Amino acid sequence: SEEYVGVVTLPNQVRQKAVKKGFVFNLMVVGESGLGKSTLVNSLFLTNLYTDRCMPDVSEKIARTVSITKSTVDIVEEGVNLRLTVIDTPGFGDAINNNDSWRAAVHYVDQQMEKYRRDEIGLNRKNIRDNRVHCCLYFISPHGHGLRPIDVNFMKALDQRVNIVPVLAKADSLTPKETRNMKAKILTEIDQYKIKIFQVPDCDHNNDPFRQQDLEVKRSIPIAVIGSNTVVERDGRRVRARAYPWGIVEVENPSHSDFVHLRNMLIRTNMQDLKHTTHHVLYENYRINCLCKNPC
Ligand code: GDP
Ligand code: MG
Repeated sequence: SEEYVGVVTLPNQVRQKAVKKGFVFNLMVVGESGLGKSTLVNSLFLTNLYTDRCMPDVSEKIARTVSITKSTVDIVEEGVNLRLTVIDTPGFGDAINNNDSWRAAVHYVDQQMEKYRRDEIGLNRKNIRDNRVHCCLYFISPHGHGLRPIDVNFMKALDQRVNIVPVLAKADSLTPKETRNMKAKILTEIDQYKIKIFQVPDCDHNNDPFRQQDLEVKRSIPIAVIGSNTVVERDGRRVRARAYPWGIVEVENPSHSDFVHLRNMLIRTNMQDLKHTTHHVLYENYRINCLCKNPC
């Protein structure tokens, strides 16, 4: 298969370890209700990760997410076992008390850090299960004018705890020019409010195709995405798309959205970076904070 799961970029030693132990990656989706979080996750994982399995009923309606839910899928890629877990959070926006939904997400992230910390102190340190959130996709509405106060607050509450990757949702509702403007506005505001988002590291191998991919991912942030649970026939291929009276928007067509960049980033080129930052920066901060609060 030509799909990689980020394992091709692993150094040999890490790779050998991963082959033996299996590889774990935990992804959380956060943002306003109705922005297409559950749909995108389905699109990301079913189109690619299930390609040679039976295709689940794609027309199946996604139920509204009402509490934090975890779904895990096991895949084998290049001889490496990969266990992907998606943490879907209930959206805010329609709830009477919006604060509750972001507190729940923040609490979840903290809880996983705490579990890991306790496991590290415990007796069975060799077999710790890593449930920490390695990446958080933050969904931004295409209908606003940049970030709203709740987006700023939410991202500020999360950015010391988890790698945030901002996502411009439902990009099919914007023209290419509107998308460019919206992206620029969002980046300016992220900078202005000093929100820390995940930085795609500069590639150290400068000749191979990953460098190009890294650059493309970098340039596409905030990543404009389109999700769909509908598969249509296009030139003999079955593609995931949204059908409108005026035509079809293909989820994986790079001229329609950055969906492919997002997928590449998560499962092809930056999975290891996201995990590395989680462990060596974010978790380290968490641990040190605990030590400061509870000196023994
Ligand atoms: P969630 O609340 O963020 O999980 O949103 P859902 O995934 O449940 O989607 C809410 C609605 O938006 C559904 O009717 C989806 O079909 C629709 N939707 C999802 N993704 C897209 C998208 O990329 N573009 C458009 N136009 N609609 C979308
Ligand atoms: Mg949902």
